[in-house]
Formats: sequence, structure tokens, C-alpha cells
Amino acid sequence: MKRVLITGAAGFLGSHLCDRFINEGYFVIAMDNLITGDLKNLEHLLENENFKFINHDVSDHINLDGELDYILHFASPASPIDYLKIPIQTLKVGSLGTHNLLGLAKAKKARMLIASTSEVYGDPLVHPQTEEYYGNVNPIGPRGVYDEAKRFQEAITMAYHTYHGVETRIVRIFNTYGPRMRLNDGRVLPAFVGQALRGEDLTVFGDGKQTRSFCYVDDLIEGIYRLLLSDYTLPMNIGNPDEITIGDFAEEIIKLTGTTQKVVYKDLPVNDPLQRQPEISKARSILNWEPKVDRAEGLKITYEYFKSLTEDDLHKVEHKNFEQYVK
Ligand code: UDP
Repeated sequence: MKRVLITGAAGFLGSHLCDRFINEGYFVIAMDNLITGDLKNLEHLLENENFKFINHDVSDHINLDGELDYILHFASPASPIDYLKIPIQTLKVGSLGTHNLLGLAKAKKARMLIASTSEVYGDPLVHPQTEEYYGNVNPIGPRGVYDEAKRFQEAITMAYHTYHGVETRIVRIFNTYGPRMRLNDGRVLPAFVGQALRGEDLTVFGDGKQTRSFCYVDDLIEGIYRLLLSDYTLPMNIGNPDEITIGDFAEEIIKLTGTTQKVVYKDLPVNDPLQRQPEISKARSILNWEPKVDRAEGLKITYEYFKSLTEDDLHKVEHKNFEQYVK
């Protein structure tokens, strides 16, 4: 039985990865320090004999007995508001955490895949973003702690690949959504749906003309799985190129939820990228992958998930005051 270590396992993407690898017949070692993750996302796996949860911060040295075939490093705060709340941990998990895990991969002769991000392109001057684009990142801006940690993560991963011969894979993940997103993580989809469910107005930042391209989680997980098992060692974009303005997205959420609330406009956060769309011809040709779930279908499933949460979850909003993070 192949053994895989998944970090950030109690988070949105990590928990979906755990499900996928359990279903594929792997033994899954799930690691998380639960700083932004939630054990509820793994509740259904805790009794599984092929699953083991370890509460550990990967920025600290990692001791792990036994063999390991694969490591998937998905531990990191991942919403702009989180990096502002916990900037040092964000920097550490991308840098020190990645270093520790690469050392582990080297020792165990495991293949390691790291979760990189469209944020390495910053506020992009090339559209759509190809993997060859170097990006436009402000290192000392509010997003710098995440963006630069992820850029460092790519650099050290390529260095371990080149100098130590560690087998590595790098996925650049674009905006992804689906069940198990944190309703209160501040990102646009849970923010809008949460507001609709609580009967609040939807807060669009800036003029709403900035764009994003949203990928349904099952599509993303399929792309990651194929990349891991492929021979491709350079960074690869995985995302859905179907681009939409945030203003239009708010209208879609209003329709989906049937809310009678309106849109209110707030300041655009500093360094908020104005446009984002993955160029995915590499994923198409090398992995034979492309997204299958369109936004209407994915949003419906995600909305059902948010509706199934308790009143308690719905009102446990950590970040109502966005003005704090736009300055
Ligand atoms: N956004 C918004 N209202 C919100 C939350 C986010 O208009 O309540 C905007 C945000 O300014 C950005 C886009 O939605 O332009 C996506 O933001 P998110 O935090 O989801 O992720 P990002 O893609 O910026 O990392």
C-alpha cells in the first residue's frame, strides 16, 4: 500500500485530497496544526484504518516513522484576510515548512508536490497568465507575506530537485471553491453567500470590475492528482479559465440565493489583482486535463453545503470589518 503525507489536511483543499487518496487505496497521513483548518473536515475519515491524523506545525522539525511515497504540501493560510492576521506563520509555513518537508522527501525518497498559487503572478501585466510569466508582486504589500513565501517555496523546491535530485511537482492553483470552504474566511464566495444567508448586503470591493476565474474543487483535485503522477517538473497552472468580474459574480450569487439584499461598494484592498485568468494549455496537453464543472453547477453544490451549516457557523464571522484589512 502506497503511503502519502498530506499537510494542511484539515483545510479545504487538504481534506478533499485526503478523500481522493483514500478512495485511490493509499494510506493517508494527514498533518495539520488546525490554525485555519478544522477537524470537522476530516471527521468522516478519523476511524478509517488507512488514515492517521497528526496535529503538528510543519514549520517545526518533522519526525515521521515508516516509508513515504508522496508528500503533498498544502499547509498555509490561503485567504488575504488570514495572511494579515497571521503574517509570520504564513511566511514560515511557505519557507521553513517547505524546507522541512523537502528534507523529509529527500530522506524518504518520496515525490513531493507543493501547492503554489496564482499569487506568484501578483497583479499581473500579462493576461491570461502563462507559466512563463514572472509576475508583478509587491514584496512589502499586505499580500507579500503569502506571495513571497510561495515564490520562495517554488525556488527551494526547484533547488532540491536540481541539486538533490528530489522528485518534485509544482501546481499553481487559481481561485477554487466548493464544500468545506470556511464560511468566514473572508474570501469572496463565502463572503457573498454568508451575507446572503444572514440577510446582509453583499460587499463588493472597488468598482467590481476586477476579475477572477473560479474552479470547482473536484476539477482542481483531479488536475493535482494527474500532475503528481505525471513526469512534469516545472510549475503548472490548474484552474478554470472562465473569467468573471466580481460585480457580475455578486449578481450571480444574488440570483442563486434569491436574496433581496443589494450590493454595497467598499474600498478595493491594497494590491488587489485587477484581473486573473489561468492559461491552461499545458495542463490540457500534458495532463489531458480541463475543468468539467461549470460555475452554475458548482455554485449550486456549494450553496447547498453552506445552507447545511448551523446557525452558529453562520454567525461566527471573524472578519466583518473589512476596512481593517484594506488599509
Ligand atoms: N471581494 C469582494 N468582496 C468581498 C470579498 C472579496 O469584492 O467581500 C473581492 C476582492 O477584492 C477580490 C476578489 O473579490 O478582488 C477575490 O477575493 P478573494 O479574497 O476571494 O481572493 P483573491 O483572489 O483576491 O486572493
